[in-house]
Amino acid sequence: MATVSAVASSPLHSAHKPDPLRQLGIMSLNGMFDEMDGVAVLKQAKEILPDDLAIVSSFGADSAVLLHMVAQVDVALPVYFLETGKHFAETLTYVETLKQHLGLTNIITLVPDPKDLARFDPNGDLWENDPDSCCHIRKTEPLDAAMEGYGGWVTGRKRYQTKERGVLPHFELTSDDRIKVNPLAYFSDVEVNAYKLKHGLPEHPLFAKGYKSIGCAPCTTIVAEGEDPRAGRWRGLNKKECGIHFDFNGAIAKPMAAEDLTLFKDGAFIADPFRVWTEGDDPASVRYTHIPVTVFLANRDAVLANPHPVGLLVSPGDRVEDVEKDLGRFASVAINFPGFTDGRGYSSARMIVERYGYKGEVRAVGDVLADQIPLMRRCGIEAFVVKHEPTRKALEAGALATVDVFYQPVGKTEVPLGTRPFLRRAV
Ligand code: SF4
Repeated sequence: MATVSAVASSPLHSAHKPDPLRQLGIMSLNGMFDEMDGVAVLKQAKEILPDDLAIVSSFGADSAVLLHMVAQVDVALPVYFLETGKHFAETLTYVETLKQHLGLTNIITLVPDPKDLARFDPNGDLWENDPDSCCHIRKTEPLDAAMEGYGGWVTGRKRYQTKERGVLPHFELTSDDRIKVNPLAYFSDVEVNAYKLKHGLPEHPLFAKGYKSIGCAPCTTIVAEGEDPRAGRWRGLNKKECGIHFDFNGAIAKPMAAEDLTLFKDGAFIADPFRVWTEGDDPASVRYTHIPVTVFLANRDAVLANPHPVGLLVSPGDRVEDVEKDLGRFASVAINFPGFTDGRGYSSARMIVERYGYKGEVRAVGDVLADQIPLMRRCGIEAFVVKHEPTRKALEAGALATVDVFYQPVGKTEVPLGTRPFLRRAV
């Protein structure tokens, strides 16, 4: 495959002057084609934009359909693939599979700017806390740079996928007078699958495993039968689209509002990658979910075989001893404090951190109030899911109470406040 450096001079298109006649032309074009005639749409697009048309493909679950049409029109049309560095290995294999199967000769791989990665995502975990920014540096920036010179580009979007795409036409004129072409606009889910079968197209290797819409590995999950295929993308996050500009059609997710950032960690409120366990969740396939201890114990083998990051939810009454040897499996342990007066969570946290040496994130959930946080911190809890507004304000202002003396020591260094005054210590 070519590299991004090879693309700058390839397209002929340079300037895009607004032209009202083009608007009329677009309306006429949309009236000319049958709903299902994707190949004819592509041929027409190539004719009106000679050497000025690019294809963008995610090489995901449905990509073979559009690329099969491209191959019927011109195997040398430039096909851009965003290699975010976060794809499933199966997707990278699938790029080669489709290239060979369809005879495509001009697949161009776009990669993020290494300087952006070094600056904004040095640990490769930006997707966890700030997926919009992660998509921006890994997708939007490289694609914008590559598409700048083209007069038009082809997407695989379809009307059925989202409410916002429900009126998607074959041809769209963008605000900067470029043309977006959507040959599959009218295809339904059933028609896409029928097309794949009819033409014997290779499936993405993960499709049969329940991945119906496939993006980057950390942000893609299996979907259940009957579930919206895109429900598996950024599951549990306030995010529906990756943000690349050809999807700016009223559908892009807005950045999360400050009040939606509920996890206080490392001195700031951040987006929480974890979601709350809900009745009906499958312990074998959930991800970024705190699985209750009782559910874990009843489904231990399934959880241990679950390939995704998961957490453990410890509530009052749970025996931490029962999960001791499996603690290392969990990326996060959430200690549930159901009420201000229930102190059992402090003991659980201390056992997990001090006795069992758990090194992952320990967070407090439930009734997390400002006065408790210093005490929680002494027990090894360093992350807090905060819903109480005054507590939020206190954390933002750095105005928490401190613990000056104590009865019960924690860790190995504290000495209790007791009957022997000479043993009293301040923290
Ligand atoms: S889909 Fe996820 S991993 Fe991929 S660029 Fe977006 S946030 Fe990052």
